[in-house]
Amino acid sequence: MSYRCVICERVFDDSEMESALEISGGRGRSRVPITYLIDGNYHSLRKVPAKKQQQPQTPAPESKEDTELLLEVVNVLAALPTPPVPVEIKTQPLPQIEPEIEEEQITTMRAVWLNRRN
Ligand SMILES: [Zn+2]
Repeated sequence: MSYRCVICERVFDDSEMESALEISGGRGRSRVPITYLIDGNYHSLRKVPAKKQQQPQTPAPESKEDTELLLEVVNVLAALPTPPVPVEIKTQPLPQIEPEIEEEQITTMRAVWLNRRN
């Protein structure tokens, strides 16, 4: 448990609090700053919600895991565009092949017509 002075914002840990002399304070009123005499100076200390500070640190690794998951998703998404590209490439050759087929059909039909004319 650490304490923070509401006046000078100095943070005192347990080792410093052992030598602290409690002058006044609302016992049972944790929200009210308690005046301590520390090293000859008066400090109005409030308990630092260490547990609440540690809680954000605990989800931090989870967020890292999330970023790792995001990276995995990004990698998957990066890998996914590869299949659509061939699809587009396959789509593009088709119109090119179709005209060739049409030309072949046309030449074939021309040949048929030429043969018929002959
Ligand atoms: Zn102080």
